[in-house]
Amino acid sequence: MRIPMVDVKRQYAAIREEVDRGVAEVLADGRYILGPNVNAFETEVADYIGVRHAIGVASGTDALHLALEGAGIGPGMEVITSPFTFIATAEAIRYVGATPVFVDIDPRTFNLDPEQVEAAVTGRTAAIMPVHLFGQPADMGALGSIAERHGLKVIEDCAQSFGATIDGRQTGSLGLAAGFSFFPSKNLGGAGDGGMVTTDDDAVAEHVRQLRNHGSARRYYHDRIGYNSRLDELQASILRVKLARIDTYNRGRRRVARRYADHLADLPLELPLEGGPGVHVYHQYTLLVDDRETLQQALADAGIASAIYYPVPLHRQKAFADVCGDLALPVSEQTAERCLSLPVFPELEDAEIDQVAEVIRDTLR
Ligand SMILES: *Cc1c(COP(=O)(O)O)cnc(C)c1O
Repeated sequence: MRIPMVDVKRQYAAIREEVDRGVAEVLADGRYILGPNVNAFETEVADYIGVRHAIGVASGTDALHLALEGAGIGPGMEVITSPFTFIATAEAIRYVGATPVFVDIDPRTFNLDPEQVEAAVTGRTAAIMPVHLFGQPADMGALGSIAERHGLKVIEDCAQSFGATIDGRQTGSLGLAAGFSFFPSKNLGGAGDGGMVTTDDDAVAEHVRQLRNHGSARRYYHDRIGYNSRLDELQASILRVKLARIDTYNRGRRRVARRYADHLADLPLELPLEGGPGVHVYHQYTLLVDDRETLQQALADAGIASAIYYPVPLHRQKAFADVCGDLALPVSEQTAERCLSLPVFPELEDAEIDQVAEVIRDTLR
């Protein structure tokens, strides 16, 4: 039995009739761009996240880009963010002409270390961009106070954290604006690319709404230069079916994590932190291990997928050499060398989890 990192076909199989019916209705209806499903999905996401506005866009990367631009972040400004994330976080900062300033992470949550953030604030700092990496909420309480003290905006990267909460409040409602991704493998995933900007700020929302549609609020009247970045009706119709089940999906991910932890707690590993700043929704189950290569090979030999998210922190990427020079961020670098992600998705069966754990136990014992 092969065990993949994620199997989106299992999720589709369980909701196939409803998804197929929705897709057929869109095709028959003929309104393929910014139609009734996008409208309804935006309202449903805004209600779920607990914000006034949700704006569907073409991808998570675009959501971050448009959230930053909509919040007024631009050339000459610095945005403090994490180097231990997918590149899109920092690409978005570059797209608006601002400079990413990478600071080190907390070794247990893998998220921005608030003390490092505060130490990096300069006269040019305009925003903090925390990432709720792997579904673990960042320390928004501490980051929020720093932002308030220094007059900074907070733009959350929620690409991996749909449904994660802090004190009952959803990630995506804890800063000025946030970007979500509906890439197929994300906790709420479509059958293609898609994304969403959430915000409570009316002006930011109006700006992002214009940006996603060629800078226009009224057709063929353009107030600014914008983009073609719209969520499409087919994706929205599929995502609505899944949004109705997102809490069940995230409970499934937490069940997988709990079972891994039960099996692996006594081994020489550092397991993902439970009891961090909020409720972890395990987009990834990422542990730290000293001899990663041996473990990954043993898993591969047993037909079990594993992955390294992420092997090179952003401050060590060629793409950011111009802004980083030889910047050293030791926690991020050590984490990149020791991290290993195991299969996790809501439909992963107990027997499969047990099999993964058995290979790990046999290898490390
Ligand atoms: C997936 C992801 C993105 C980008 O989302 P896309 O929909 O693939 O453009 C941004 N940030 C993080 C942390 C991600 O995991």
